[in-house]
Amino acid sequence: MERRNFLKRSVSMLAQVGVLGAMFKKPAVAAPPSYDASKHYYGMGIQVDKCIGCGKCMDACKEENNVPRVPFFFRTWVEQYILRKDGEVNVRSIDPQLGKFSAEQITEKNILRSFFVPKLCNQCENPPCVQVCPVGATFKTEDGVILVDSKRCIGCRYCIQACPYGARYLNPETSTADKCTFCYHRITKNLLPACVEVCPTQARIFGDLKSNASPLVRFKRMNKLHVLKPSLNTDPKVQYSELDGEVR
Ligand code: SF4
Ligand code: SF4
Repeated sequence: MERRNFLKRSVSMLAQVGVLGAMFKKPAVAAPPSYDASKHYYGMGIQVDKCIGCGKCMDACKEENNVPRVPFFFRTWVEQYILRKDGEVNVRSIDPQLGKFSAEQITEKNILRSFFVPKLCNQCENPPCVQVCPVGATFKTEDGVILVDSKRCIGCRYCIQACPYGARYLNPETSTADKCTFCYHRITKNLLPACVEVCPTQARIFGDLKSNASPLVRFKRMNKLHVLKPSLNTDPKVQYSELDGEVR
């Protein structure tokens, strides 16, 4: 039997009683030796009213993180919400590769308002994905980022099913779970995540919540913020300003 399948079957029973996760030590995280994770705690703010749906963030993320150029594998994506006068809400994703929307074009008739909502892994404070991983491959770092150790991941997809935000996918090239890391390889070198760096309207604000000089701290102080699916108590570290109640 193939090793990966054997492991999947072996862990499935133990995972249900929460045994295996505790058996594994947390893996080392790729960061410069001088980096001290205990001094940082990261989050992201998104100003919905500033997003113009250009998709540059999606493209930059794919480029930076070698995300397969296959449609619908994204670490971050942008949805357009269209609220109609009859109360109906349409949601469609933009496809920067095609330079247009992946869904059918909608005529302007009867549109009450429309806006763009960038989405990504919410780097949850209480991450369901970490709780279900049977081999400890997905974990939270000391500075608050949820990562996947691809060497440990057995591709069982439990985390993909557990994520309430659809933020994870199985990388077809590695057969392991993948998702946004806040560009961990960049932020630990004091660089911005790729999506934040390229956004032409500064719709995304990245920062260190342990630093009073961080733009994110100021953003949180100056705005009324919302998170996606608050009733799930995942406590996301991605927070939105000007978020319409129709967004889910
Ligand atoms: Fe863990 Fe997800 Fe990999 Fe399964 S697919 S081993 S739950 S990280
Ligand atoms: Fe995990 Fe999904 Fe939360 Fe990200 S958004 S931490 S993948 S549950």
